[in-house]
Amino acid sequence: MNEKPQYQIDTLAVRAGQERSQFGEHSEALYLTSSFVFTSAAQAAARFSGEEDGNVYSRFTNPTVTMFQERLAALEGAEACIATASGMSAILSTILSLLKSGDHIVAARGIFGASQQMFGNIMPRFGVTSSFVTGSAPAAFRAALQANTKLIFIETPSNPLTEVFDIAALADIAHEAGALLVVDNCFCTPALQRPLDLGADLIIHSATKYLDGQGRVLGGAVCGGKALVEEVFKFMRTAGPTLSPFNAWIILKGLETLKIRMLAQSAAALDLARRLEAHPAVARVFYPGLPSHPQHALAMRQQATGGAIVAFEVKGGRTEAWRVIDGCRMLSITANLGDVKTTLTHPASTTHGRISPEARAESGITESLLRVAVGLEAVDDIEADLRRGL
Ligand SMILES: *Cc1c(COP(=O)(O)O)cnc(C)c1O
Repeated sequence: MNEKPQYQIDTLAVRAGQERSQFGEHSEALYLTSSFVFTSAAQAAARFSGEEDGNVYSRFTNPTVTMFQERLAALEGAEACIATASGMSAILSTILSLLKSGDHIVAARGIFGASQQMFGNIMPRFGVTSSFVTGSAPAAFRAALQANTKLIFIETPSNPLTEVFDIAALADIAHEAGALLVVDNCFCTPALQRPLDLGADLIIHSATKYLDGQGRVLGGAVCGGKALVEEVFKFMRTAGPTLSPFNAWIILKGLETLKIRMLAQSAAALDLARRLEAHPAVARVFYPGLPSHPQHALAMRQQATGGAIVAFEVKGGRTEAWRVIDGCRMLSITANLGDVKTTLTHPASTTHGRISPEARAESGITESLLRVAVGLEAVDDIEADLRRGL
């Protein structure tokens, strides 16, 4: 499976990266081992020094984790991929391996709540500062650049408002400034969008979401060019936010159905978004697949579908939004997304509850906003559940 470009993404999802052991197992093996044995003292020394390729210790590499990394790299069209314990540890590892005290990040305001915390509150203690850009206009990103800006960080579509960012335009702006463009590709996954093809330098994944697809384990990954990913790997093997082999095995199998899940869940999301838009108790729907979305045209150029996340504002405030949640009998009230089970979230009081009210207002996350991560149930049933509280 080394001749990667010959296969289409559907094929890569089930075939890429598999290494069979001497037993010839058909399904990918789960190697639950913390360390690996050597045949001699000389081999141990050669493995540790890197003179000889091979596994040493599962904080560095593990065959099951390697299979996951190879498969995801193939799907993203990336030279390399490093797996991490979670999406947040993928972001942390990227920053700590590529930036140093005195460096600066330009990030979109509407990124995942924990990412905002990391850039806004944690990193400044280590001398890495960030500017947050409201809206998605490329010119606003250019205006926020400083002499010490080392990376631009976006999520597209963003969580939860599904704001769409022009990856190619932002890659140009970053590169002109000698900075990197890092894209959190959590909402689309490579099944719908491949940021590296559009000029991005690195992709962040929370594998916890669609890559697993069934809400079972936490995981993350960083994909990109060999040299950059190697830097992240050097940090990872020392610092240790490594993906467990068990989690890697779960997500590796999840990748096999990624595309059919993403297409089915996106189709259901579009259907639901249209129905919500027509409902009298709904003030506004945010879904890139709808012509009413301000960046519909860009989304349709950049993504294969509108994705599977639909956000909407109810008429009223927190009381009315919570009434919709509390009226549901089937939908899962949880902050997770990317599951085959539809989940319903009130971002202002959960995922984005810990950021300042000012930052929340600037992000456009109101008390009346709800986020539906559409799963594989029948759209009629999902709609009926939401209608009860509307
Ligand atoms: C969930 C999420 C993360 C963080 O991932 P974890 O696996 O929970 O650490 C990062 N970015 C986005 C867009 C997310 O939805």
